[in-house]
Amino acid sequence: MAGFKGKSVLVLGGSRGIGAAIVRRFAADGATVAFTYAGSREAAERLATETGATAAATDSADRDAVIARVRDSGPLDVLVVNAGVAMMGDPLELDADEVDRMIRINVQAPYHAAVEAARRMPEGGRIIVIGSNVGDHTGFPGIAAYTLTKAAVQGLVRGLARDFGPRGITVNAVQPGPVDTDMNPADGPLKDTLYGLMALRRHGRPDEIAGLVAWLAGPEAGFATGAMHTIDGGFNA
Ligand code: NDP
Repeated sequence: MAGFKGKSVLVLGGSRGIGAAIVRRFAADGATVAFTYAGSREAAERLATETGATAAATDSADRDAVIARVRDSGPLDVLVVNAGVAMMGDPLELDADEVDRMIRINVQAPYHAAVEAARRMPEGGRIIVIGSNVGDHTGFPGIAAYTLTKAAVQGLVRGLARDFGPRGITVNAVQPGPVDTDMNPADGPLKDTLYGLMALRRHGRPDEIAGLVAWLAGPEAGFATGAMHTIDGGFNA
């Protein structure tokens, strides 16, 4: 497919998992794709060779680095903020610095990246942030801190959709449920808990999430903005 030929796409956090599937999808659809990574240099380089995308090291915990990366990649037709980390466990035991780092990666980076991208984004531009179905419904204990970051994504999406709507730029969140990645492997210890809460008793595949991202970035989604697009196997049903 060449649906995104001539379009410039930046994926923050594209080296593994859902982000890598998003990079593959846009590259296969003809876009010029750049993506960032932090820890997974080898995976990033392999993906760049495979897809023809450009990889650049940028730690999403570093606000100024994120802003500079977006600025230097622009003007963008599509920004996808996928980079995220998940800390789970008893809130009385979690390390406070690590919680704050997660907030920088999952909340501050999407906000500042979206604002920076919008400075030079043309009409028809698309900003898509990967949230989570837990933004609507936690389902079980031990994920309060992660959940607060994904609920914050909802606020930034709603607010920036109104700010940038007059310029023809849409802002949306994709909210996956359990997806088979390093973060949440299908054979991991949470499997039985998760499947007990889902209408479809399986993990999603990264390419299923990438398909929804591609739809939101394409012409058929021009009227969708300020919205949370949940794709969770019926976890929240
Ligand atoms: P993975 O852990 O498999 O991959 C995370 C990706 O984000 C990697 O490419 C990683 O790059 C990148 N990343 C992490 N931290 C940073 C950082 N500080 N700077 C730059 N990049 C970073 O996770 P998933 O693919 O599963 O998750 C992707 C997104 O989807 C996240 O936002 C997550 O919260 C969300 N999500 C995932 C679900 C799931 O079940 N898998 C469910 C709901 C939402 P590198 O390795 O190079 O650091």
